[in-house]
This record gives sequence, structure tokens and C-alpha cells, in this order.
Amino acid sequence: MKKVILVRCGEIILKGLNRPVFESVLVSNIKKALYGLGKVDVLKSQSRIYVEPESEQYDFEAAVKRLTKVFGIVSLSPVWKIDTNFEEIKKHSILMINDLLENNNYKTFKVETKRGNKRFPMESPEISRELGEHILNKFPSLTVDVNNPSFTLFVEVRESSYIYSEIIAAHGGMPLGTNGKATLLLSGGIDSPVAGWMIAKRGVEIEAVHFYSYPYTSERAKEKVMELARILAAYCGEIVLHIVPFTDIQLDINEKCPQDESTIIMRRIMMMISEKIAKSRGSMALITGESVGQVASQTIQSLAVTNAAVSIPVFRPLIGMDKNEVIEIARRIETFETSILPYEDCCTVFVAKHPKTKPRLEHILNSESKLDVERLAGEAVKNTEIIRIKPN
Ligand code: ATP
Ligand code: MG
Repeated sequence: MKKVILVRCGEIILKGLNRPVFESVLVSNIKKALYGLGKVDVLKSQSRIYVEPESEQYDFEAAVKRLTKVFGIVSLSPVWKIDTNFEEIKKHSILMINDLLENNNYKTFKVETKRGNKRFPMESPEISRELGEHILNKFPSLTVDVNNPSFTLFVEVRESSYIYSEIIAAHGGMPLGTNGKATLLLSGGIDSPVAGWMIAKRGVEIEAVHFYSYPYTSERAKEKVMELARILAAYCGEIVLHIVPFTDIQLDINEKCPQDESTIIMRRIMMMISEKIAKSRGSMALITGESVGQVASQTIQSLAVTNAAVSIPVFRPLIGMDKNEVIEIARRIETFETSILPYEDCCTVFVAKHPKTKPRLEHILNSESKLDVERLAGEAVKNTEIIRIKPN
């Protein structure tokens, strides 16, 4: 018997002729995610991937935890790989259930069998039935309940056979690196980390840009953003984070532009700078955490004026979502607790009391012409600090 991890892939199965490419990227991402835990073989077989550690001492719990964050994986199971032979299947099923009953007060079960190996002399229902009887004989405390069992013993009969009782959900999506690169405008809030995660889930590599206004925003606010990037890096791999000094620009806007237009002008300049950074890094789109109507700068009129500042596509995956839907994802991906830490953001420090909710582009362009935007943006890019953020 050998303990292995069974990995189920999702959408890449639909990829037809390109499927081998997607699969090999996924296999390489799995290897990267498991780096440092010990030597493993990662084997492809039909729509499955098997992770087989060399050592008996392998930390399966840590491996499973990391693999649930690899995009392209739909679910995982820690499984026992055994010879395809009914006596072996019976023997190891008993051992596995013994382990299970040690830690759980289970009363009912069922057996579910899949037979991929048609040369095996018994058919699936027969295997389930005979194995079920064998289990009932060995464990008098258990009864069969096919509708709502406390646990299911899954048996897969293939070249080798596999038994398991646990199916752990992962996030699905496409393997990272199969869909180019995009640049996330990462604030310290709840929304932008979720937005970045959603696009990364589609296989897009992510870089991040953060604007900070030292000394109006503190060193701790910057550390909070680095921590958010670190949480995202567990899904996205190392993230290049560009920290852009924004104080001079905000002071200039406050001095020269109408108060009720300052937020929208600030948002436009953030987009322009992000576009410059994206282009210099081979990134083909921007990502923001905006959602229609959430605040004054996210009315349709404001979004249109902000969008007009750049020419590359802007992805806004949260655009039609309610705040509670975003919070649900933030909790699931574990960014929420960090996002709600109370450090100030550059937007909130300089925020206008009554920002325009229906800005007109020509008015905004007129106000903006009082600033030397090209010079300001160029300076900011020049003074940008680049930090590589690795997962914990
Ligand atoms: P979030 O929760 O992501 O901060 P928000 O609801 O607070 O979003 P805004 O403050 O209007 O909304 O920001 C809208 C989007 O602009 C953010 O989702 C983010 O993508 C980007 N953004 C805002 N502030 C910054 C910043 N300091 N650095 C980088 N991007 C930012
Ligand atoms: Mg914000």
C-alpha cells in the first residue's frame, strides 16, 4: 500500500487538442506548490493527476492544504494505492475504516465503486455489495445507509486500485500561467484582493501596484498591503509588488483641482501610472476591485471617466457583485481579516466631502490640464519601489 494524493482537474478536460499543454502547466504548478515538502512523483492519468511522495514521512496535511490553492484543481483526496486484487481491496478497506473510526463516531456508511479496468472480473455493483458485506461483518457497530451515510468508502479499480473516504474541495479555475499576465491595483481594502484572486483563478499571472501617501498613510498600511499580497501569493506564486509614492500627486491635485473632482482625477492618474507599469512589465490588462454604484467614484459616469484614462483593457470582476458577496469570497480566500485591519488608505486621507457622482469627461480633462500629469506620472514610476512577495 502506498499513500498518494488524487487530484481532480476541472475545465482543462474541455480543452481538446490544447489539453496536454494545460495539463503540463498544471503538473508544473503542483510541483512548485509542493516545493520543500520532500520528493514527489506527479503522474498524469486520464483526467486525474496522482501525487506520489517518496517518503513514508511525507506531510500529507501540509501538501493537501497547499494543493487546495492551486488553480485548475477541482478537488483532492488522500488515497491509498493498492494492487488491483479483491483480497487486497478488502484488507485495506478494513484498515482504512479502522483508522476512520478511531477519530470519528460514525454509525453508517456506503461503498461506491468505479471500475475503469474492464478486465477486472467483478462489476462495480458487485464489488460494492461484497465489500459492504465484508465491512458489516468486521464492524458490527456500522450499518449501511445509501442515502445519508456518515461516510462513504470510495473504491476505484484501475491499473492499480485506490480507496479513500475524503473529497476535499479546491477552487477550480485554470492553471496559472495559461492566460498571460495582468496588473492588479491593490489597495488595502476588501475588494481589490478578491478581484485579483478572481482573475488569477482564470489562469492569469498577477503583478500588483499599490499607491501610498507617506507620511499621510503609515508604514503599517504598506505592510498590510504586503501581507495581502503574501496571502494572494499562496494562490498566484511570487507576486511582484510595485509600491508607488503618491503623496506629491495628491497634494498637487488638492492644490490645483476642484475639491469635488479630486477623487476622480486621482483615480484617473492611478490608472495612467498603472498602465505605464503594466506595459513595461509585459502585462496586458489592469484589474480593479470596482463595483457599480458602491461609492461616488464607482457610478457608471465615474467609471467611464476613469476608464478613459487608459487604453489597455480594465478587468473589474466585482462589477456586478454586492458587498456581502465579495466579503464571502474574501473570507474563503483568507484575505478578509487582513483587509479589515484599520490602517488608513491614501484614498481615505484625501477624500473629498462631496465628490461628483456624475462627472463629465470634458470638465475633468479641463481640471486635469492644470497638472503636469506626464511629469508627475513619470516621476512616480521612476521612484517606484519593487518588492517580490513570496507565499508564506
Ligand atoms: P478596495 O476595497 O479594493 O479598496 P474600495 O471599495 O475601497 O475598493 P476605492 O477606494 O474607490 O474602492 O478603490 C477602487 C479600486 O481602485 C480598488 O478596488 C483598487 O483596485 C484601486 N485602488 C484604490 N486605492 C488604491 C491604492 N491605494 N493602491 C492601488 N490601488 C488602489
Ligand atoms: Mg479602498
